[in-house]
Amino acid sequence: MQTNFTLAQLADPDIAEADKILRACVHCGFCTATCPTYVLDGNELDSPRGRIYLIKDMLEQDRPATAEVTRHIDRCLSCLSCMTTCPSGVHYMHLVDHARSHIKDTYRRPLGDRLLRVMLAKLMPYPRRFRLALQAARIGKPFAPVAAAFGLKRLAAMLRLSPWQAPCRPLAAQVFAPQGARKGRVALLAGCVNDLLMPEINAATIGVLTRHGIEVVLPHGAGCCGSLVHHMGREAEALEQVRANVDAWSAVGGLDAIIINTSGCGTTIKDYGFMLRTNPVYAARAARVSALAKDISEYLAGLPLRPQGNAPPLVVAYHAACSLQHGQRIIRQPKEVLTKLGFVVKDVPDGHLCCGSAGTYNILQPDIARRLRERKVGTIERLRPDVIAAGNIGCITQIAAGTDLPTVHTVELIDWATGGTCPPRLRDHRPRAAMHRAGAAD
Ligand code: SF4
Ligand code: SF4
Repeated sequence: MQTNFTLAQLADPDIAEADKILRACVHCGFCTATCPTYVLDGNELDSPRGRIYLIKDMLEQDRPATAEVTRHIDRCLSCLSCMTTCPSGVHYMHLVDHARSHIKDTYRRPLGDRLLRVMLAKLMPYPRRFRLALQAARIGKPFAPVAAAFGLKRLAAMLRLSPWQAPCRPLAAQVFAPQGARKGRVALLAGCVNDLLMPEINAATIGVLTRHGIEVVLPHGAGCCGSLVHHMGREAEALEQVRANVDAWSAVGGLDAIIINTSGCGTTIKDYGFMLRTNPVYAARAARVSALAKDISEYLAGLPLRPQGNAPPLVVAYHAACSLQHGQRIIRQPKEVLTKLGFVVKDVPDGHLCCGSAGTYNILQPDIARRLRERKVGTIERLRPDVIAAGNIGCITQIAAGTDLPTVHTVELIDWATGGTCPPRLRDHRPRAAMHRAGAAD
């Protein structure tokens, strides 16, 4: 694609990067067929190619974002399905990140939208604050249908997604010793939401790692990965969170890997090197952090895991989180590990399409998110699985809100099959005959 940035514009490294990305696009349109928002409504402006044109025009003219551009960029899930499809290697992620930051700097959103975004940005990345918010949401949860009836769709979506049970407490900084001789040492990103909503994910991660001789460090000072505010265009806040993590992980010596069990965070952490590339103090350390970052399934695929006979051969519908399959190109490892451990893994048809979770998307764009969830749950339920597994708490929450099937993190099944305990959501659910046939023991 031909671009027309001036030399003065190209002196800005972000514009120079955008120019490089735009020039790679040959506007073939292959990406439209795999874009969830285009698949739903067939609007070219809600396709990757359409959005690329809108961004190009906005940046070239150095214009403030308009309401129309903002609407179409807001509808993008950042699922990155378009990047997997694109034959020209267009780095859409960096382009849309830049566009979101430009929108944040130049467009004044309606008051309600602004307030909601500030609230999400100031609460969700901070576990203690978010815990209080979740406790308040429990009181309001029964009123979700009332909120929806009054047209308060985003409030209704927030209440529906919040859990009925009280949120747990976040894990403190500490070291989990390996069982037996130490064979490795990793840092774990505890995440902002995991411990509050599903502490079993971190427990399973720590359990399976320490049982296999890996020391797990939760360092002081590590917090939210920054992706939540990054995807809202709040670049200054995102970079502050990124730098704090780079400092925290760089201070821990002898790490073999930084383990992430929320794939949305993993995609961002693997991009820290790019995000801080122009910062002379942080660039090298950020690149090192990105190089060390590994999704838990990626790391476990390299360990000698053996089934211990305590998990039955359940049929698992494996939902590939977009951030894992498109953002990190981790496709086979989770399925191979589950299969090796005795589970019967089924791919979900149209698995390249997002479930509608996408960070805060299911709150900010509740209608599209609901339609994507219904489509996803329909394809999953047709497989008649015993359990749904995914590598991202956002997907788990989103899918679980639309089905009665138990939905767990992949690492919970891996932990169970290698000598850990049955995932609580499965234990409570007691799935069909397979569990009883196999006489499953916890
Ligand atoms: S597939 Fe790639 S090159 Fe083709 S229109 Fe989409 S982004 Fe551009
Ligand atoms: S990131 Fe996803 S929603 Fe956004 S343009 Fe690409 S395929 Fe479409």
